[in-house]
Amino acid sequence: MSDIFPVVAIGAMGGTIAMTPATPYAPVQPGLDAHDLVAAVPGLADIVEIQVENISNIPSPSMTVADVLHALDFARGAVASGADGVVLTHGTDTMEETAYLLDLLWDEDAPIVITGAMRSALMPSADGPANILAAVTTAVSPQARGLGVLTCMNDTVHLASRVTKSSSMSLETFESPGYGPVATVVEGTFRQRWALVSGRPSALPRPPVGPLDVALLEAAFGEDGRIISLAHQAGYRGIVVSGSGVGHVSTVAADVISDAIADGVSVVVASRTHGGGTAEAIYGYPGSEADLVERGAVMAGNLSPRKARLLLYVLLSHGCGRDEVATEFATRGAD
Ligand code: ASP
Repeated sequence: MSDIFPVVAIGAMGGTIAMTPATPYAPVQPGLDAHDLVAAVPGLADIVEIQVENISNIPSPSMTVADVLHALDFARGAVASGADGVVLTHGTDTMEETAYLLDLLWDEDAPIVITGAMRSALMPSADGPANILAAVTTAVSPQARGLGVLTCMNDTVHLASRVTKSSSMSLETFESPGYGPVATVVEGTFRQRWALVSGRPSALPRPPVGPLDVALLEAAFGEDGRIISLAHQAGYRGIVVSGSGVGHVSTVAADVISDAIADGVSVVVASRTHGGGTAEAIYGYPGSEADLVERGAVMAGNLSPRKARLLLYVLLSHGCGRDEVATEFATRGAD
């Protein structure tokens, strides 16, 4: 910590928060850099010492594992040189995925807080500056240490492992279904509301930069198994199926999953509902969760299909087999 102010490292990655229109009300494009974003927050330099870095300036649907690892290196370097916390600005569309991938790999006590905006920078009542202020408040809060990677938007803080974007338009878009926000920022202070009973799982080793070789598919009504079969034939090393209810697929899809597992593909089944997670042994019919576990699939527990995909990716990149994958999902998907 600096002698006078806490130190925060702010890395800009892109997203709506950094977008501007070429002419008033035209569609927006990336335009602002980290210095512009910080300059838009009145008085920030009066409460913290700021270090800024331009990591990338891209819309978040195009974010890659390499971009996230670049942000990880930035955060590690900043904490190693004394930053009390790290703030990343990022698009909201895939914020939950970047947050979770970083959270899997982050082994420091200092928090990484990811923020962004739903309204672009030149819109009336743009939310970016207030979100940066709340994210900085969170990042330097001693109470946020040990919570890993957090998202902070609209004065509301979520754990990376639980958060999801719930509305394509609303300012209050981030939710943690079944859990709620882990904290709020009120009157300039970070206020924690709950904690995971089992604590924060330990960090995983960094994956090599390579293709994100895990397909994510939804088991929709009337699913005939073709899409899973195509993913199998396409050579994915892992497949995450977003199953119905507590982790179900049709009978025919279950047979296709068995074929893929027999060929060495790792299959994880998550729930396509937004809360409650998967079960292990409530139902026993073909395609049920108990049947899929019997066939060699792993259930994702409380991890969303998108987060299950990233966890499976990291585990497979380290050569984990079915038992290790099952153990990690049992730990990280638990309450
Ligand atoms: N709608 C997005 C955002 O809020 C665009 C993106 O994710 O980059 O930033």
